[in-house]
Amino acid sequence: MKTECEECLAVFEVSEDAIVGEVVTCPECGSDLEIIEISGDTVKTRKIQLSGEDWGE
Ligand SMILES: [Zn+2]
Repeated sequence: MKTECEECLAVFEVSEDAIVGEVVTCPECGSDLEIIEISGDTVKTRKIQLSGEDWGE
């Protein structure tokens, strides 16, 4: 399956048994991406925002 990195727009392979909620790392820029949707051969991901920066509590 393939996904596109939201950060650098690289397209890369993720494992066939990947599931929603799993975290994959972009091989190009090293961003951590959470799988939010799988449809057919395409995986949609969202960049994980690291907590503790602007969370302001
Ligand atoms: Zn990337």
